[in-house]
Amino acid sequence: MVTSIEHINGMISDLRLQPVDFNKLFNGRKSLTPLESVELFLKEELQLKIDKQNRSRQRNAKLPYTKTIAAFDFGFQRSVTKEQMLQLSDMTWVEQAYNICFLGPPGVGKTHLAISLAVEGLNKGYVVAFETLENLIKILKTCEITTSSRRRLKYLQKATLIVIDEVGFMPLDATEANLFFSFISAMSEKTSLIITSNKGFDEWADFLGDQTITTAILDRLVHHCEIINMTGNSYRLEHHKSITS
Ligand code: ADP
Ligand code: MG
Repeated sequence: MVTSIEHINGMISDLRLQPVDFNKLFNGRKSLTPLESVELFLKEELQLKIDKQNRSRQRNAKLPYTKTIAAFDFGFQRSVTKEQMLQLSDMTWVEQAYNICFLGPPGVGKTHLAISLAVEGLNKGYVVAFETLENLIKILKTCEITTSSRRRLKYLQKATLIVIDEVGFMPLDATEANLFFSFISAMSEKTSLIITSNKGFDEWADFLGDQTITTAILDRLVHHCEIINMTGNSYRLEHHKSITS
């Protein structure tokens, strides 16, 4: 049997396996038995496949940026403790489809903490997705006519954890509020949601436009939910950087 690296690489490509650097893989391991060689090759393929899936999960999560719990100043923001966040970062709550709501005024760190937990979820191998409410509504409105929205909705439906950021920033009309309700309802008990909102629950009817739909949404959302009310000053305003000083 004539073995050539081109032939092997051709089969790797036909089988849709990942390209392997054989020189690196077998370097210093010249005395392997045939079975050990096959095992080493398959282990490498498995690892490359896992790496590829991880990269694709990271990309598809569409986090706007990365934030960590380690980088959060719990001395500045005292409504939530580091212990609380570290406990939540074990991510066991996603197995029971619990939700988390970060509520509070702008700049207090709601999105930062939501993204930190999304990052923890990604690191633990979960399918995670991030959307602003505005974008989520856009997806729900256009999923029947736009391929990209249909694909994204499918991804959201298979996610274990979805961050819905900036709930309450824009008022919803009746159709949009109904779409939001249907989405929350479809996710409840199945998918964990992290919601950030600049409005307290008692103000949600203002932007949802209707008390009945608000009650129905909150009823599903808070059934299994950790509610973190954040107060205090805006970190942005207190730590603003100027160009000249
Ligand atoms: P919110 O979503 O509540 O409006 P963000 O989470 O977007 O606020 O925070 C605004 C900016 O300030 C971000 O860059 C965030 O990383 C930073 N920030 C907010 N609170 C803290 C904090 N306690 N420690 C460190 N950075 C913070
Ligand atoms: Mg925010």
